Amino acid sequence: MVSRVIPVEDFDLVIFGGTGDLARRKILPGLFRRYLSGQMPDTSRIIGAARSDLDDAGYRDMVREAIAEFGGEEAKNTQELSAFIAQLHYVTVDAKGDGGWSELHEMIRFEAVNAFYFSVAPSLFGDLAERLHTYKIADKDSRVVVEKPFGRDLDTARELNATLAQHFDEKQIYRIDHYLGKETVQNLMAVRFGNILFEPLWNNHYVDHIEITVAETVGVGGRGAYYDKSGAMRDMVQNHLMQLLCLIAMEAPSVFDADAVRDEKLKVIRALQPVEPHHIVRGQYDRAGDEPSYREDAGNERSFTESFIAMRTEIANWRWAGVPFYLRTGKKLKARASEIVVVFKDLGHSIFPGDQERHRNILSIQLQPNEGMQLRVTIKEPGPGGMRLVDVPLDMTFAEALEGDNDTVDAYERLIMDVIRGNQTLFMRGDEVEAAWEWTDPIIQGWEARGDVPKLYDQGSAGPDDALLLMHREGRRWSQIKA
Ligand code: NAP
Repeated sequence: MVSRVIPVEDFDLVIFGGTGDLARRKILPGLFRRYLSGQMPDTSRIIGAARSDLDDAGYRDMVREAIAEFGGEEAKNTQELSAFIAQLHYVTVDAKGDGGWSELHEMIRFEAVNAFYFSVAPSLFGDLAERLHTYKIADKDSRVVVEKPFGRDLDTARELNATLAQHFDEKQIYRIDHYLGKETVQNLMAVRFGNILFEPLWNNHYVDHIEITVAETVGVGGRGAYYDKSGAMRDMVQNHLMQLLCLIAMEAPSVFDADAVRDEKLKVIRALQPVEPHHIVRGQYDRAGDEPSYREDAGNERSFTESFIAMRTEIANWRWAGVPFYLRTGKKLKARASEIVVVFKDLGHSIFPGDQERHRNILSIQLQPNEGMQLRVTIKEPGPGGMRLVDVPLDMTFAEALEGDNDTVDAYERLIMDVIRGNQTLFMRGDEVEAAWEWTDPIIQGWEARGDVPKLYDQGSAGPDDALLLMHREGRRWSQIKA
């Protein structure tokens, strides 16, 4: 199948924090891939903006090195890389100062789409937004992209929303959650709402339970001090897992547009039940030989922050009442794997004599490291010997059939192109983020008030044993964490 990449409109994209880790590892290599695919017009420009004293040539050298390091195979395409690099510019600005802003104003082409990526600490969002207006760099058509974390609780999220709202309309604000940019996440919506097969079964009559797992093999490493103030609940559950849960559980929007989709997601978050203390398991990875423990990585010997969390929650609405949603995420686990598993109910009665096995249809949706979708179905074991049943995965990935369209579009690239197109469907709206914190805050406050101490777990395991019990007590079992 032939790839159908449609170039976006001519744009000027300013990356505040253009010298930072995220810009070098994700944003700029991603933009280069979009350039290679023909999606980025030759006239478009990317303007790095940060305090470092660089000129265009210095910035271009820095980006060339970053793309060589993080850009994968494509970076070897030196001719194309040089052409892409020529579209880069740099301006020295301090978010808190006044130098450089007039120069930035001069650089912007107001006739093109203007987007401003705030790839800096959230504490600088207000300063950037204010100066973009003071210096008349942003107007009512400009877009701003903001990175996570979006607050650390409801109050700080409200503050951030209010700060941005002083200068930008909600239609201009793109809050990134890169999980939403994954191909499979969008495929999930296509499978749910583009087929008649699943929707009739997608409810508490037919679904036994749903699992969402985001497992990492890395520890907190160099981010220890930052992470220790956050923990798995704030860093992963409140945003990534919550977004996945919304897409799995939401009603069909009336149309596939940004607000219709986000309205439905918001209803899911608002229907989420508080989590009982005995339905939460928090953990910290233990030392393993020379591998430091969480507390050593965090540089805090008395830390009670969780590097792992598993929980059970429910959604109080007609579709999902009584269906447990099990969420878990953690660091230093046995494999890097993000997966959503929808486990359908037992048949209730088997007509096949001697068939003692429990056969269940299971839909598994992998987001990481490889994206894919399988439906486990029960069939007859081939060959003679009577009616023996066997469960086999029906692969719904279709990567080969769709080769060409299904290229390696990374979540960040896709989302940045959506910003240029003005499509907010895959970005979180302010009220969604606040509702997510509204659900998260009391859970965190609960364990803080109780003085809960996270359980230690072995590195390379599936987390603390108590997390297994969370499901065992209810006669269920987590899916294997496997890459
Ligand atoms: P970083 O490596 O520390 O980079 C910060 C950037 O901000 C640098 O370019 C820095 O450049 C610039 N900066 C700092 N103070 C500034 C000021 N006063 N005025 C203008 N520019 C200033 O951080 P990062 O890892 O790239 O993260 C950026 C944002 O993305 C953060 O909000 C982070 O939470 C989020 N994020 C990062 C990742 C990741 O993988 N790195 C993942 C998810 C979200 P100068 O020092 O030259 O000014």
